[in-house]
Amino acid sequence: MSASSSFDPAAIPLPGGHFIGGELLRGTEAIDVHAPSDGAVRGRIPAGDADLVDRAVRNAAHAQRTSGWATCPPRDRARVIRRWADLVETHREELARIESVCSTRPIAETMSWDVPFTAEGLRFFAEYADKLGGEVAATQSDLLGMTIGEPYGVVGAIAPWNFPLVMGSWKVAPALVAGNAVVLKPSEMTPFSMACLARLGIEAGLPAGLFNVVQGTGAVAGEALSRHPLCGKLTFTGSTRTGIAVMTAAAESGPKPVTLELGGKSPQIVHDDIRSVDEVAERVFRAFTGNAGQVCVAGSRLIVHRRVADALVERLLVLAGTVVPGPTWSGDARYAPIISAPQAARIEAIVARSLASGAVAAAPLTRLDVAGDGCFLAPSVLTNVTPQTAAVQEEIFGPVLTVQTFEDEDEALSLAAHPAYGLAAGVHTADLGRAMRAVRALKAGTVWVNRYGRSADFVIPTGGFGGSGIGKDLGRQAVEANLRHKSVLMAFGG
Ligand code: NAD
Repeated sequence: MSASSSFDPAAIPLPGGHFIGGELLRGTEAIDVHAPSDGAVRGRIPAGDADLVDRAVRNAAHAQRTSGWATCPPRDRARVIRRWADLVETHREELARIESVCSTRPIAETMSWDVPFTAEGLRFFAEYADKLGGEVAATQSDLLGMTIGEPYGVVGAIAPWNFPLVMGSWKVAPALVAGNAVVLKPSEMTPFSMACLARLGIEAGLPAGLFNVVQGTGAVAGEALSRHPLCGKLTFTGSTRTGIAVMTAAAESGPKPVTLELGGKSPQIVHDDIRSVDEVAERVFRAFTGNAGQVCVAGSRLIVHRRVADALVERLLVLAGTVVPGPTWSGDARYAPIISAPQAARIEAIVARSLASGAVAAAPLTRLDVAGDGCFLAPSVLTNVTPQTAAVQEEIFGPVLTVQTFEDEDEALSLAAHPAYGLAAGVHTADLGRAMRAVRALKAGTVWVNRYGRSADFVIPTGGFGGSGIGKDLGRQAVEANLRHKSVLMAFGG
């Protein structure tokens, strides 16, 4: 079968339950899960409440204490996680199809990127299991000082809908490698792939109860997880507004540490020394249309030198006409639907407000014609905007690019600064000095130079500044954030 074969979404069995203590628990199916591609209800999940979350967390705490996971030789943990990665690859088609039914991810992408990338991420984290040393100080002849990293016990994880498998696995794997148990709540809009991943974990040899999935709404299950006293640490990816709620709950029920991967409004600066307008236009285009803009690091603000602005925008308009929308289960589809009708309406409302305040739609935000009740929005390019325009200020999470022009480097950097967010930024220039000045000046957790977006560079962590978050996913930092360090001072001798 080719990587992009079509399939029938009605024929895919979706694991619509919680996964607790190594078992799928169906419960009362109370939440409808829609396919964004056509709006149809494709599955149901139970709505976990505070009691259910309590059961999952207690189960996890018991498994973490009694299974030997935290105390076994770290290489044993690594072996299980590597086996898990192998199983993810073996079940690539099953996972890819489950992911493609109710998320925005076309099957060609879940087969070629989401699932293989998840497996690679598991392998990357497994390698850290036996490489997490502490500090040692032996400065006095009769005293040895050291730090020992210990797991928190249970890590509570809350994941978003935009890359359910990839984002979820970035939470789960480092926490497990560090010796914790995990209770994860996926988004109620994309709940299925995590339960499937959990089942494969059991097959790989993960002790039952080490990785649990609770289904439900954010307001009930997410809130209960954030406030559970037995969760020693929380890791969250989602909007800034929800991140603040999670952090508040963590403070009031602990305090306990949080990793927060939040929203963004990332700039892409294009200087007039670029070698090829066409090449940079491709990069800029992919950066704001990937997953139809439903990417936390979407490069949604183009800040371009006046001399190349017209040529670049002209090329972007051509590219805007080339997207290939289609249901996520069609092997031909390359362009994502918007996750839900309310989200599409929200995107349209922000663009309408921007147009009302003077912005010009060089490429309008039209609805693309795809059968069914899904929402596919054409890539939109807005010119004549100011820093106050709604589309420049607010995270849209849709395929909308604003265009601002500059005369000199200082102006570019000042336009790039955003009062609230600091997640990512891109600089496109042939001048490395200029690039490094931008790298230093930009308030962003990630700066890409002459590229935009992540590939298989797991060792480089990801995370935002300011309103875009606290802490890092990926990299060594992600594993270390799942350990607390105990300081030991040992006197010996006479
Ligand atoms: P969201 O904040 O609406 O929901 C995220 C998760 O939080 C969901 O599982 C939801 O059920 C849960 N939740 C909602 N209310 C809650 C509450 N009161 N307590 C606890 N949990 C609650 O975000 P979303 O719409 O799923 O995802 C889109 C957002 O995520 C965007 O803002 C995007 O930028 C951000 N995001 C950030 C990154 C990153 O790495 N920085 C990655 C992906 C997405």
